[in-house]
Amino acid sequence: MSQSIAVVGAGICGLFTGLSLARKGFDVTLFERDVPPPQGSAEDAFFSWQRRGAAQFRHPHAFLGLMCSVLGENYPDLLDELLAAGARKMTFADMVPKHLTDQYQPEPGDDKLWMLLCRRATIETILRRYVEREPNLRIRSQTFVTDVLVAQTQTGTGENTLTVTGLELTDRQNKNLKSTHSADIIVNASGRADKFYHWLQAKGAEITEQRDDAEIVYYTKHYALRDGVSEPERDSDNPSAGDLGYLKYGVFPGDNGHFAIILCLPNNESELRDAVKDGDKFDQICMNIPGLVPWISEDKATPTTAPFGIGEIHAVWRDYIPSDAAPKLLNYFAVGDAAARTNPLYGRGCSTGTLHAHLLSEVLSSEDDPWQRALAFRAKTEEEIRPIFNASLNEDKNGIKKAEAVREGRTVDKARSLKQWFGLAFGDALVAAAKYHLHVHRGIMRTVNLVEKPGAFLKDKKIRNTVFRYMLFGRKKNAAARIQRGTSRDDMIRTVCDPS
Ligand SMILES: Cc1cc2nc3c(=O)[nH]c(=O)nc-3n(C[C@H](O)[C@H](O)[C@H](O)COP(=O)(O)OP(=O)(O)OC[C@H]3O[C@@H](n4cnc5c(N)ncnc54)[C@H](O)[C@@H]3O)c2cc1C
Repeated sequence: MSQSIAVVGAGICGLFTGLSLARKGFDVTLFERDVPPPQGSAEDAFFSWQRRGAAQFRHPHAFLGLMCSVLGENYPDLLDELLAAGARKMTFADMVPKHLTDQYQPEPGDDKLWMLLCRRATIETILRRYVEREPNLRIRSQTFVTDVLVAQTQTGTGENTLTVTGLELTDRQNKNLKSTHSADIIVNASGRADKFYHWLQAKGAEITEQRDDAEIVYYTKHYALRDGVSEPERDSDNPSAGDLGYLKYGVFPGDNGHFAIILCLPNNESELRDAVKDGDKFDQICMNIPGLVPWISEDKATPTTAPFGIGEIHAVWRDYIPSDAAPKLLNYFAVGDAAARTNPLYGRGCSTGTLHAHLLSEVLSSEDDPWQRALAFRAKTEEEIRPIFNASLNEDKNGIKKAEAVREGRTVDKARSLKQWFGLAFGDALVAAAKYHLHVHRGIMRTVNLVEKPGAFLKDKKIRNTVFRYMLFGRKKNAAARIQRGTSRDDMIRTVCDPS
């Protein structure tokens, strides 16, 4: 008999978990606190779908090569539906900077380096409708999971276990209407707002959490291109995404003529944080960044939303395998943001979540013993997701240091040891080499798209030799390749916050 699986959360990761497990023959029920997508197009979903359960729903999302490859390889018909709804495939050839196109020759592996351009509302609506058609699977919307049911047992050898047996449910329309649902396996795909962590700890589970604050706030504003206006061409001298030290920015091209701009500020950049909440000031900031001007000048696009923000940006890692003394937690698995969360700036969460969902499905279909399943899932998570988490955390720490230095008028580029000098010189040379050599650019794009372990391209001899050759040109020359045009912090504050 197939085992029953309850998945908590019908966000990106919950939907992929349910889909993949149902295809492996499990009987799946998803529980989701929010309403289903509205009837009509993905456009209607963007403007009217009430998605309080996923606070990031209207923030733009990049869907990287890792997720796109899983999608294309396993669900080609779903990909067709996404393209029909207006999502666009951006291949590696499309992403090659204009000045490098004469170096471009397709190579094996390039087919994995594509991104899907669309709003999250579009992908989630189409994915949800696709998943709803799956036999062996049902979605119960407007149902809050309000607790987890656990059986505590002790084996003959004195070993303690906590076996998850079901869920307590609360009807969203009528908070007094409570019920329970039993399942053989519970998957927590409840995202950032995960409460299992506390519920399970209260019941005696030992869960280790690593939590680091990225110390940023993230603001978004959406726009639509005016009729007849095409997206601006990519310009490597004035990129549409970058880092001014005190502010990170990026354009996210979407579907059906929509795009969004994000501005990301350190928590303590208080004047600019106030300014960015105002629609006109948001635009003014963008107009001081050359790479954004071609997108939002008045003759090109009109805003479709006011700016809106999200804070509490943390990197979070949870480990459910306890020390020897604590009870073993059985039949419970956490995937996606509930288990491993990274800074949204890198656009990795949906890719790692989609991979995580499929890793779980592989484990549950190949192992029967509950404890072996827990161990195997932890091992796969450590192998595949941990390196991405660690690299993201490292980038967060460097970002915090850089923002602090810019605020204090210091440079972070001064080396205090030979080792540090080598690291900085190598980093400068890498950026400069990538600007002029397609094979180095391709290597970086492999890491960006998560199709290999972060930084694995640096093992490539040809890439390494090119970077070493650039090191000989000296730090000063190479560092120039990093320079991003844009107003300095002081001038930005003066122009936008205190125009008098
Ligand atoms: C501002 C921002 C921008 C981002 N940009 C990107 C990006 O560009 N690219 C990218 O790949 N990732 C991005 N991410 C990360 C990405 O959104 C998440 O990694 C991804 O959504 C995780 O999927 P999930 O299914 O684990 O969680 P979610 O998508 O958050 O889904 C969780 C679901 O669980 C439901 N739920 C929660 N609690 C309960 C409960 N008790 N009962 C019932 N239902 C419940 C919620 O309603 C929700 O539907 C971004 C994140 C943020 C915050």
